[in-house]
Order: sequence, then C-alpha cells, then structure tokens
Amino acid sequence: MLDYLIIGGGIAGISAAARLSEHGATLVLEAEAHLAYHTSGRSAALYEQNYGSPSTVALAKAARTDFDGMLSGVLSPRGFLLVCLQGEEAQFEYDLEHMHLSEVAVADAAKLVPILDSSSVIRTASSATARDIDTDMMLQIFARRIHANGGTVETNQQVTAIDKTKQELACDHRKWTI
Ligand SMILES: Cc1cc2nc3c(=O)[nH]c(=O)nc-3n(C[C@H](O)[C@H](O)[C@H](O)COP(=O)(O)OP(=O)(O)OC[C@H]3O[C@@H](n4cnc5c(N)ncnc54)[C@H](O)[C@@H]3O)c2cc1C
Repeated sequence: MLDYLIIGGGIAGISAAARLSEHGATLVLEAEAHLAYHTSGRSAALYEQNYGSPSTVALAKAARTDFDGMLSGVLSPRGFLLVCLQGEEAQFEYDLEHMHLSEVAVADAAKLVPILDSSSVIRTASSATARDIDTDMMLQIFARRIHANGGTVETNQQVTAIDKTKQELACDHRKWTI
C-alpha cells in the first residue's frame, strides 16, 4: 500500500518524504542513479538565513528549528563576504540593510581574502550568521529517516506518466498499490 509518492530525490523531495514517511507508506522515485544529482548536488552549500526573497528568508528561518534538532551537526561556521564593484552601489546598500550585514574596510577584507582585487572593489560587507551546510549529511539524515519509517527510495526511476486507478498508481512500467 502506498500513501505518498514523491517524484524527485533532490533535497525538496527527500526532505518532504522524510516527514511524510512519519504519517504513511512513502515512495520516492528518482530518475538518476543517485540522489541529489541535479541542483541539490550543485549548491554552494551556504546557509544564510537573510538571503533571498521574503518567502525564502521566512523558510530559511523556519528551517532553523530543524538545524537545531534533527539536523544537528549539519551547519558549521563559514564566512560570507559581499563585494561591491563600481556601479553596484544601490544593490550593495539594499543587501547591506536587508541581510543585516556589517561593512568591512576593503583593506581588512583583502587580508581575509588575499585574492580580492582591492583596486576594483570599492566596498565590502560580511555576515555574522552565514553557515556552511553539510549537504551530503543532510540528505543522508533524511534518507535514513525514510528507511527507518519503512519508506522506499528507488533510483533509476524516471517517471514519464502517472495513471491513477482505484487501487493502483502506475508510473511507467511499474505499478504501486495505493
Ligand atoms: C549553482 C547553485 C548554487 C546554489 N547555492 C545554494 C546555496 O549556497 N544555498 C542554498 O540554500 N541553496 C543554493 N542553491 C539552491 C538549491 O541548491 C536548490 O534550491 C535546491 O537544491 C533545489 O532542490 P530540488 O530538490 O527542488 O531540485 P533538484 O535537486 O534538482 O531535485 C529534483 C530531482 O527530481 C528528479 N526528477 C526530475 N524529473 C523527474 C522524473 N520525471 N522522474 C523522477 N525524477 C525526476 C531530478 O533527477 C532531481 O534529482 C543553489 C543552486 C545552484 C544552481
């Protein structure tokens, strides 16, 4: 019997499946040979809770509870330096305010990041809250939770069609009882 079908084994699918697996039989179908093959495997792995649109910031802040709980150990300290070139002053001012950054003298920033070209950089700012995400650990924690709850993760399963009948869910050549 299947209660939840998740198509896609990136961080969105795996994290949703981990939570849904608490409530019913869950199946994740991933097209590639392993999880997080696409966008999730290319992330810069930065957790900066004030970065992005208001909805992204709200989600990032909400995730803090998990980072302090089930995902404990996934975050570690990491620097974040915002660089402003000529003509980028307005965006820099916006980010400085909205991301709650602290302005740093360009000379001090160059000491932290020696490859910084201080002849073209006019302003810099840093964040006290930026963290590094161990994205592999995060994915494995969610995947383990799915398995522990009796859920299933199948790779090499690209879904090209879904047909829901009364008792079956047919994804390509495989059928799942629901
Ligand atoms: C260059 C780059 C840097 C980034 N840096 C950061 C960062 O520093 N911090 C941060 O928080 N975010 C960052 N992001 C954003 C973050 O990586 C993405 O928001 C996140 O990985 C999206 O996850 P996802 O699960 O939605 O997508 P994906 O990881 O793309 O997962 C979707 C999955 O669905 C599978 N799939 C698709 N179609 C089917 C099908 N028909 N059947 C079966 N499976 C299917 C795909 O194979 C894939 O594995 C970055 C993104 C990029 C591109």
